[in-house]
Parts: sequence; structure tokens; C-alpha cells
Amino acid sequence: MDLYEYQAKQLFGKHQLPITSGDVCETVDQAVAMAESIGGPVVVKAQVKTGGRGKAGGVKLAKNSEETREVATAILGMDIKGHTVHKVLVADAADIAEEYYVSFLLDRANRCFLAMASVEGGVEIEEVAVNNPDALAKIRVDALEGVGPEKAREIVEAAKFPEAIRSQVADILVTLWEITVREDATLVEVNPLVLTPTGEVLALDGKVTIDDNAAFRQPGHADFADSAIDPIEARAKSLHLNYVKLDGDVGIVGNGAGLVMSTLDVVAYAGEEFGGIKPANFLDIGGGASAEVMANGLDIVLNDPDVQAVFVNIFGGITACDAVANGILQAIEQLGDSVTKPIVCRIDGNNAPEGRKILQDSNHELIELVDTMDAAARRVAELAAARKGAK
Ligand code: GDP
Ligand code: MN
Repeated sequence: MDLYEYQAKQLFGKHQLPITSGDVCETVDQAVAMAESIGGPVVVKAQVKTGGRGKAGGVKLAKNSEETREVATAILGMDIKGHTVHKVLVADAADIAEEYYVSFLLDRANRCFLAMASVEGGVEIEEVAVNNPDALAKIRVDALEGVGPEKAREIVEAAKFPEAIRSQVADILVTLWEITVREDATLVEVNPLVLTPTGEVLALDGKVTIDDNAAFRQPGHADFADSAIDPIEARAKSLHLNYVKLDGDVGIVGNGAGLVMSTLDVVAYAGEEFGGIKPANFLDIGGGASAEVMANGLDIVLNDPDVQAVFVNIFGGITACDAVANGILQAIEQLGDSVTKPIVCRIDGNNAPEGRKILQDSNHELIELVDTMDAAARRVAELAAARKGAK
């Protein structure tokens, strides 16, 4: 889970990393009140989970409460790369002498963490990385050894931080590493880390990605989840289904994440021929594929108004295909009249002939059986396109 900047800063504050004071606001009036309580100039910052807010006009300084009202009015409701701004962070504006960049991230390919640091931080860091790669120090961090004072010193020297602030930045790196470990983060990035004219070093921005696999030992992180998640996603979650909403027209139900992912690919590929038909969701009902789980899965997918046709793609393993076929029929029976969309089934693997026979013998008007995955993808795309065109 990616955190908003204000949430990242809550974690920074909890671990005593130096930040500016401020808080998140949902209305213009709240923003003005926050600016008044801070007193003096503030910065108003769009809270969206995407970078480049500054360049998009989502980060603005305000000298007083009138200006805060103006910029908060402009930023709330703004669209930044497809993300609508519902919240702003109003913080004490810092004076900036220099902008630096520091981060720790999980480097999966090299089975370690990677520290990155640059004295050329700020909104142009991507350009620095491309055009002046030597200005971005990259240091391997062993997950077990971590980052103590010595490793922090190595990073600070590699990035050529000015001598006068090396120990300050090294302390910050040790704290950032502590945050990475204690909060189970896969990314902790501060850009910019600033030096103020009075010699203080502060984190002015924060980007943190939390490893959701650690949720069981991080009960506090549940509060970071967006309350405004899609209602179908919320329902799927409560049914323990692995569901992700996409923006196409073909509902996908499969067992096993790998199979479902390749199903998305073949449907998108087949759909090109039918005017760009695409998958409407990812739904992995897991290895078991029992009737109840199948009913839950079909219910979720059929209730999505974007779905025109459904592709059930099952590979029978431990659960044999005849059991899966019975599951599909029971699911449709349970759902009753709410089932109005065509369902293309491809079932293969353990006891496939028995399973196919059960579906065939049902003579259900909405079920179509197709033998191969590619042919089934093509058929479901065709059906979805026809229904979409008819609307
Ligand atoms: P991003 O563009 O999404 O990365 O948003 P940032 O939080 O990094 O803000 C973008 C830029 O706005 C920073 O690089 C700073 O130059 C500027 N900025 C952000 N906060 C402050 C502040 O408190 N004071 C001043 N003077 N500038 C700020
Ligand atoms: Mn930034």
C-alpha cells in the first residue's frame, strides 16, 4: 500500500524524523483555520498518490489566511494525473537553501535494499537520474546488516553531502532505515530533504510504500487504508476473494493468480478484434473453487454494471473439474434471476471430460462451453462487444 504524504509524515514524526508542523484538511475552511493556527506562511499541498504534484500546480505557498483560502480553493478538487484532490496538507512553510534526495527501497532483483542519495534533489530528480547519473549515489544495503552510523556515513560521502551537515544527514538516514524496518516498508523516499538557511535539515516530502504482507504485525497500518474504496472491492475483500476492479467489459473468474493474469492477457488480445474489449476485473477464487466460492465470485463479477459477459477459466487440480462444473451450476442456481449475462466456461485439467459433460447436459441458456483458452477468450470478447453495441 502506498501512503499519502501526510500519512508518511505521521510515520516520520512517530520516529522523530525532523519535519515541519501541519495537518491534513478536507475543506477550504479547515485549511484556513490550520494556516491561522500555524501562523505565518504555509505551504498547501495536494494529497494524491502520484508524484509531480509540484509541477502540476498542486503545491503552493500562501503568506496569510486570504492566500491560503485562494490556493486551497484552487487545489481541492483539482485533477492531477487522473487523481482528484480530496485532501490537502497545510504545513508550516520552510525556507529552503538546498534540496536533497534520499531513499531506501527494496531491490528485489538483487535481493537487498538500495540506498539512493543526491545533493541535487527536488522536482528534477528524474532528470538528474537520467542525464547526470553520477550525481545519484546508489549503495547496496544488506537487509540483515542494515544502516548504522558507519553505513550512513558511507552513503553521505558517496553522495558528496557538504561536510558541515554530514552527521546531521547520516542521523536522518539511520532514522529512515529504522522506519523502513520497523514499519515494514518497501520504499521510504524523501524528496526534497532540505537544508534551511539556519542550517536545519528537514524532510519536506515523504513517499512510503508499506508491505501489505506484514499487515498481521502492523495493526496500526489499517488506519492508512482508503475509506473510499470501490464498494465491490470492499465486498470481495469481506468474502476473502482476491479481486481487483479494472475498466473493461469482460468479467473474469479463474483459479490461481497466474492463470487469471494470463486470462487477462488473452482477453485483452482477443478483444482488440472487437473494438478494444478488455477485462473488467481480476478475480482469483483460489485453488479450491468450491460451489460457494464460485457463487461468491460470480456474484461479485455479475454485479459489476460494466460487465457484459463473463469468462470462467478453471484449471482443475486438487478440485476436479466435475466438482467445479457442479459448483458453477449451483452458483447460478443460488444467484437466480440476477444472472442475465452470458458466461463462457473453459474448464480443463483433472476430470475435464466429466466436468464438461455436466455443463453441456445442463443446457443452461447463458452457459457456453469452449474447449481452449484462446477460443474462449475470443468468444467472450465477441459476446461482450455484441451486448455493448446493443445498449
Ligand atoms: P512533489 O512535486 O509531488 O514531489 O511535491 P513536493 O512536496 O516535493 O513539493 C514540490 C516542491 O515544492 C519542492 O521540491 C519544493 O521546491 C517546494 N516546496 C514544498 N514544500 C515547501 C516549503 O515548505 N517551502 C518552500 N519554500 N517550498 C516548498
Ligand atoms: Mn517531492
